[in-house]
Parts: sequence; structure tokens; C-alpha cells
Amino acid sequence: MGLRPNLLTRRTAGVASTSLALLLSTAAVGLVPAASAFSAAPAEVCVEPADAYSDARVKAGAHTKREPNELTAKETREREADLAAALRERANFRAGAGASALATVTVPVIVHVIQEDSTRAGGNIPDSLINSQISVLNQAYSGATGGAATAFSFQLQRINRVTNPAWYPIVQGSSAERSMKSSLREGGKNTLNMYLGELSDGLLGWATFPKRRLDSMDGVVVLSESLPGGTATNYNQGDTGTHEVGHWLNLYHTFQGGCSGSGDSVSDTPAEASPAYQCPTGRDTCTATGLDPITNFMDYTYDSCMYQFTAGQADRMLTAWNAYRAA
Ligand SMILES: [Zn+2]
Repeated sequence: MGLRPNLLTRRTAGVASTSLALLLSTAAVGLVPAASAFSAAPAEVCVEPADAYSDARVKAGAHTKREPNELTAKETREREADLAAALRERANFRAGAGASALATVTVPVIVHVIQEDSTRAGGNIPDSLINSQISVLNQAYSGATGGAATAFSFQLQRINRVTNPAWYPIVQGSSAERSMKSSLREGGKNTLNMYLGELSDGLLGWATFPKRRLDSMDGVVVLSESLPGGTATNYNQGDTGTHEVGHWLNLYHTFQGGCSGSGDSVSDTPAEASPAYQCPTGRDTCTATGLDPITNFMDYTYDSCMYQFTAGQADRMLTAWNAYRAA
């Protein structure tokens, strides 16, 4: 499929100056994506909400909000400090309860299909796409696609179909999103609530990072046509779901922090100065060892290009699970 109409509009209006990296680092509103992002095919940009607890993935071209999902250095420091504090809390709790940290985790999944009406264009995707998405998650997180095996598997509990034009499209950061999630979210901290629908601002998806205190915003939002077999060209093999669940399990982007500092807080993902788009060959944006991790699920490349998590990411997700989401 082509770009969605809103993208086409912005594409026409696109400015030809700023690099994507600059775009990502600026906090101004009303930005249009760089022309380079439009060139061949949709690239993506991550949009960041106003706090450090969520993250997004966007198709090329874009949207008018600030790029919210690039965390600032301060926000990552706060998140890392919170993780350390959560781990201390949980260690004390476990010692008292005689419990041990989990080594494998089956995540219950509730899928909410947000529809405008009963048509496919109105968000009514078939169950088969949702079942395929769960399979893609299980393959990605088991290492079956070529990466490290993680502790996680996913079990679909229920598909909840909701027809409500007021929630369609799902607008990131809106009061309607809050209302939708407050009404629909089910389960405890360990339950993955996945909201599917048409999304605002050309976004492919967004997710919340784990928090010590569960709130109703917790979950992932994914463009329904990004599911395997959907119509979002180059982004229709289900890896938006994989990427957003990675954030839900506490992973940053591989390009977080650029070339300096602790980057994405994972030692075996080579540093990367900026997001990679499409599927570049030999990209190497930092002097530190290693080519850019363009095949990692936490970069921005095409679904066909990304196929792995690293062992370090697997460790980070399990550590965070035991700190934040384990019962
Ligand atoms: Zn992201």
C-alpha cells in the first residue's frame, strides 16, 4: 500500500534540510521529516511521549509532534536508577518470601482490536493476523529467527473487539487514548495488553516502559496493518509488535545515547549514532567496535531486515521482568 493520506500530505510539504538525527534530537513541535526520509520508501521515526515511560515507532514521514520516544540522557539515567531501586526492592521482597527470580516467563496477552466500523478499512482485521502476530512474537523471543533466546513466550488469552469511532484512529498521548486504556486494560503487571488500530501521525506503534506502580496506560499500541500479512508495506511482518514489546520489557533503541556513554545500557549491541532505516549495508556510525546493529529488533529498519535480540538484551529484559512485572 502507499503512504497513508496524512503522510502524503506531509510528504508534499516536507522540508529538505534537517537530517533525521537532528530531527530526532530537537524538541520543537510542528516538524516535518527530512526529505531524505522520504526518498525511497517509508522510513520510521520514533515519537516520544512527554515522559520517560513510553516509546514509539513511526513510518517515514510523519507526524507533527516532537520526537518523544528518544529519551534524553537525563531520562535514561532516571530509568536506570529506578531499575536499580526496583531490583533492590524485589530482592528484599524475595528474601522475605523465600522466592527466587524467574528464569522463564509466559506472558498472557490480551489483544484489543479498536475498530471504527465493521470494515477492514475501519480496523476490522481477522483473527488470523492476530494469531500470526503471536507466532511472530514467540519466534522472535525464542531466538528462532536467528538471535539470542530470551526467557519470554507469549500466550494469547483473548481478543477483545471494540467498535468506537471516538477511539479511532488511536491518537498517541490523547485523552481518548487514556480513556480507551482506562476502559479496556485487563490483568496485572505481567499481562501484555496490545491495542490494535489505525494510528495517529503515521505511527507504527508505541509502548510504555515498565514502572514500579502499574497504571492503566501500561501496554503496547500497534498499527493493525503492521501485523503479519497486513497492508503496511515493508512493515507488515509483525516486527513492530516485536519492537514495541521490547520496550514494554524495558529495552531502549539500539541507537539510544548515540556513540557515547552507556548507549542502550546493553553491552553487546554496538553503539549507533542514529536510527538505521530500510536495510543499509555496512553501516558503521560510531568509532567503537562493531557495525551498527541494523538487524536488531530495536533499530528502525524494515521488518525484513531485523531478526534478532542479543544475549545482553535478553538479560536486560529478564532482569527488568523480575524487578517490575513478576508477580
Ligand atoms: Zn521504539
